[in-house]
Amino acid sequence: MKHQPPPPPLPLSQPPLMGGAAAGGVASAISSINGSSNNNNNNSETVKCRPPIYPKPKTPSFDKDRDYIGFATLPEQVHRKSVKRGFEFTLMVVGESGLGKSTLINSLFLGDLYKNRQMPNVEERIEKTTKVEKKTMDIEERGVRLRLTVVDTPGFGDAINCEDSWRVCTQYIDEQFRQYFTDESGLNRRNIQDNRVHCCLYFVPPWGHSLRQMDLDLIRRLHRKVNIVLVIGKADCLNKQEVRKLKERILQDLEDNHIQLYQFPECDSDEDDDFKQQDRELKASIPFAVVGSNTILEVAGKKVRGRQYPWGVVNVEDPEHSDFIKLRTFLISTHMQDLKDTTQDVHYENFRAQCISQISQHALRERGKLKRDSISSTNGFDAAISETDRLLLQKDEEIRRMQDMLTQMQEKLKQTHLMEMKKNDSVIDV
Ligand code: GDP
Repeated sequence: MKHQPPPPPLPLSQPPLMGGAAAGGVASAISSINGSSNNNNNNSETVKCRPPIYPKPKTPSFDKDRDYIGFATLPEQVHRKSVKRGFEFTLMVVGESGLGKSTLINSLFLGDLYKNRQMPNVEERIEKTTKVEKKTMDIEERGVRLRLTVVDTPGFGDAINCEDSWRVCTQYIDEQFRQYFTDESGLNRRNIQDNRVHCCLYFVPPWGHSLRQMDLDLIRRLHRKVNIVLVIGKADCLNKQEVRKLKERILQDLEDNHIQLYQFPECDSDEDDDFKQQDRELKASIPFAVVGSNTILEVAGKKVRGRQYPWGVVNVEDPEHSDFIKLRTFLISTHMQDLKDTTQDVHYENFRAQCISQISQHALRERGKLKRDSISSTNGFDAAISETDRLLLQKDEEIRRMQDMLTQMQEKLKQTHLMEMKKNDSVIDV
């Protein structure tokens, strides 16, 4: 459907150019604001003097609706604008290699992000450090464009000493926040590229009894910076009971370590029952135990994404076999926007608050330094003044001494003169 922009406002002195129904709609709107009846003729006067700012479009369905103002189309306007702009989403995938991360990402987004991937050999893995690799793909579905960026961390947990694996992840997340903060504080804020990480899928191995120390180390450092969603990889290695037990232990570990992963928002009370049920099921499935596959198999005449084993087929999309569909629903269909909002409103706000407090502390320190400098320079000035004073005093003293000498000399001269005069007098007397 092609959108027509609303016509410009009509000048107040002109009568409305619309048909009676439209005018009546506005009239009834104004009269309902004024608390008068629709049939009151005095109100038509009001309509003539006050035409609508945005006249009602001539949509047949609205012609009969006399209470129409126009703002009911706001969601459509937002929708149209958002679709035009497209969406961005950045997903970070963390976990040791071989846990099925690439397979799962390809299964989730029906793509092939890891075509030219090379696996490191044993020697390389001993010394291997964690890297960050970014891959972007543009996906379109029913006219909606999504630019998906997957941030992979190859080498995570692969080296013998993997204590610092988490550092690479935290640094990357902080760098993206810093870049966004810089762009946002700059002059041109219109086309900011948002590379902030909106969600981190952390892969826990199906072997082992709960979270390992290295899992806790990373999660503890990341949970206040990014929305972490835990995923048990290769869940087809476990039976139903084992999956349940592992999930319970993981949740207990998180509680014991005061770690808060991404919190699902509360479901609105006016949502329909199906949505509420789906929301409950999603919450109950955390951490998601997933199976990934990029192979399409035919089972009972139906094409399914699955893994063929000698004893049967694991259907990735069967909720009895794996939480894959739940993870996809959560990540893409129901909570993608909330993950972005939480990143903006919680994690980025935390980062921004820290930045602003650091900047103000730095400014305070600078001001203190300046003050100290100015005091010391004032002291220097005082010292210079006192030196000048000392010199002046010295000169004064010299002048005073010279004046004394002058006075003494004048006195002496006077004495001599008097004596001379007396002598002359005596000579005359004689
Ligand atoms: P990554 O290194 O974590 O990205 O792991 P890959 O996606 O490359 O998978 C490593 C191996 O595990 C491949 O042989 C996959 O076919 C296999 N694999 C992937 N997902 C699963 C799964 O859910 N279950 C099982 N059993 N194997 C899987």
